[in-house]
Order: sequence, then structure tokens, then C-alpha cells
Amino acid sequence: MIPKKLMQSDRAPYTVDEKHYQRFPVNRQAFVTVSVQDTGEKTRVGFIRKMMETLDEKIENQEPGYSQIDNALDLGAGVFDRMVGKNGDPNTELLQWNTQSEPEGRSSLKIDLPPEELTQRVKEATALYGADLSGIAKLDERWVYSEDLVKPFVFTDKSVPEETEEAFLIPKTMNRAIVMAFVMDEDLLEDSPGVAGNAATSLGYSRMAIAAASLAQYIRALGYQAIPCMNDTVLSIPLAIDAGLGQLGRHGLLITPEYGSNIRLGKVITDLPLNPDHPIDFGVTEFCDNCLLCAKSCPSGSISVGERSFNCEGETGNPGVLKWHIQGENCLRFWQENGTSCSNCIIACPFTHGFEWLNCSECETCEIYNGSCSLQTNADMRKKYGYLEDTSWGSPPKRIRPKRSGL
Ligand code: SF4
Ligand code: SF4
Repeated sequence: MIPKKLMQSDRAPYTVDEKHYQRFPVNRQAFVTVSVQDTGEKTRVGFIRKMMETLDEKIENQEPGYSQIDNALDLGAGVFDRMVGKNGDPNTELLQWNTQSEPEGRSSLKIDLPPEELTQRVKEATALYGADLSGIAKLDERWVYSEDLVKPFVFTDKSVPEETEEAFLIPKTMNRAIVMAFVMDEDLLEDSPGVAGNAATSLGYSRMAIAAASLAQYIRALGYQAIPCMNDTVLSIPLAIDAGLGQLGRHGLLITPEYGSNIRLGKVITDLPLNPDHPIDFGVTEFCDNCLLCAKSCPSGSISVGERSFNCEGETGNPGVLKWHIQGENCLRFWQENGTSCSNCIIACPFTHGFEWLNCSECETCEIYNGSCSLQTNADMRKKYGYLEDTSWGSPPKRIRPKRSGL
């Protein structure tokens, strides 16, 4: 990782209007909203069913970008996501809140190490289990979903996490989250919005599932509690910002200094005494103020071309945070027409690729270019720390694939 101290700032990483902000309920997620509109069922399945019908038609009609062999690649890549992630439901399968292999997998003895060393060892474990980046956040209760599809998430004075008939109970002592980022295959992703592009996303989710389940088991064997999560239970992006992994972009996604937006995020909530990381600021907000590349590349017009706001349109947004709000319902309606997910906004983002001179002409509204902008500074840092390679003048920088020691 690029050293955090290079990007630490006194500026708050986000602005929340406490009078209006409320914890977000899962039933207002775009996936659920669209499913309810289509089928009347409060699940995510209705949305997926319709998208798959379109995909089958496109494959049958042999439309370019929708071949059977690319679809096979996608289905193979997503096996562990489907097996472990179960459509994003909390406390299921390998993402259970209590270990499946008691007594073997759990220790009653709490590991005794200074927080600094423990934090370091946990981060090493995340890398072994497949994470390309990791950070520690204090768990901010505002980012925990208010309720899942059927029952609320409630903070308790108990010491063990539990799902009852009425609620998901999270102990207040579980006040740390280990946030992990998984880099997606950029070559595949560039096929977006074709089905090969989705294979990159599916593989990101599968790797996230394996890492979250593995890290949870590791923590339980250290004598502590763990709630492994994919997209469930708590909002990933604000947690990742708190964990110092990156900043929020106009496209509503995290931008990391190492890989731009080409990542997926998973997390494990725990009571391990870990040292939290600091949020970072490497000039993303100012750059996004002047860059509209993601909005221009969005086939559904879901990305704001205006200024940041506390307010949002549509059923799927959550007002009360100053940001560029995404029209999630429009985005997913495009996915349904397309037959598979879209990653155009990730691919279009220059932070995903690193600075090239072409960006200066594309960045039409830029008024700050004076020989150096935050994208250029970021690309220089990435070259220095081994994430990008210099190429001949005028050519795009070469991305260096992450080196993994474990999964
Ligand atoms: S995923 Fe595609 S449709 Fe959705 S916001 Fe990004 S570019 Fe637009
Ligand atoms: S494409 Fe431009 S405006 Fe959009 S998130 Fe990336 S840097 Fe920001």
C-alpha cells in the first residue's frame, strides 16, 4: 500500500447533516426496490430473474458481447459468491455470525498481543486470504443498515453476536471493522457492459467471500468475535473511507490511491482491540468537481453532472450526506436491459488507469491544470510505489498487477 501518512489530512472525509441523516434500510437498496416494483416480492431475486431472462435471449441471438463461452466464464467466477454470499443475506452459510465448527474453530483464550502488533498480524492475514488492500475502521453505527429485509440490526450490551426471531444483535463491544479491497481483472472489466466484464465482478465477489469467511475464522481462533460481511449488514464505502482506503468519487464508488475504483469491498466486524487507520485525502473531490468522464460514459444517465448535495432523487438514495448521489434505480434498469452488470463508470475513471496526457483534453471543465493535478500526483505516487510503470512519452502508463502471496 502507498504509505497513508502521505495522504493524511485534517479535513473531514465527509459531511453529514445529522438532523436529516438516518441509517439506511436494506429494503431501499436499488436491487430490492426494483424487485418489489417488478414482482411485489421484497427480495433481490426479482431483479436478477429479469436480468437473466434478457441475458439468455442475447446469448441465444448471439449478440456481440454476450457469448455462451463468456457467460460460462462468468458463472465459474461467481461460484463462491453464490455459495457463500447468498444474495447478500447476513448470517448465512460461511458468513454465519458464529463459527460452524465449534469447538475446534473457536478459542476461549483471548490472544494477548499489543494492539499494534495484533493490527499488523491481522493485516498480514487479510493479504494471505486474498485481500489486495486492507484498513481498520472504528465501527460507526450510522453506517450499519437500520434493518435487513425482515428485521432490524440492533446494538446490544451482550458479548456475542446473534440473530433472534426479532433482530440481528450486534454487541457494542464489536466496535472495529477490518475492511478489505479486492482488485478486479481490468482486461475482463474493459468488456463492460458485456458479460465478460461481469466475470471480473463475479470473481471479485468470490474472492471477497473466501477472504471474509477465512478472516472471521482466524479471529474466532484468537478468542474474539467476528461478523463476516460482503455487501450486507453495513455500508461498505463509508466504512472503507473511515479505514483510510480511499475517497468517494462522483460515480458513488470508492477511489483508492493504488487501484482507483477497480476494486470490490468486503469487511469483518470484530471486538479485536485493533488500532484504527486514518482517513486519507488525495484530492479526489476537487478532481471530480472538474471531471465528468464517468457521467459521460454512463449508459443510463445515473451519475450526477451537477454539484454535490445533501439531497437525492428517487427511492433508492439516502439524503443527509454531502455527495454526488447516484440514481440507483436507473442504473439497475439498464442492467436488466443489458442482461448483466455494467462497470462503465469504473473503466472510465482515470484514477483506475493512471494519468495520461489524453486526460487533459478529456477533462473539459478542468480549470486547475497548471502542470500538476491530483490525478497526475497520484500517478507519480503509484509509479514510485510499484503500482504503475512508466512507458514511452505519450503512451498510457502500464498497470502492474497485484502480487498475491496467498489465495
Ligand atoms: S454501473 Fe453503468 S449504468 Fe450504473 S452508474 Fe455505472 S456506468 Fe451508469
Ligand atoms: S471519472 Fe472523473 S468524475 Fe468520475 S469518479 Fe472518476 S475522477 Fe471522479
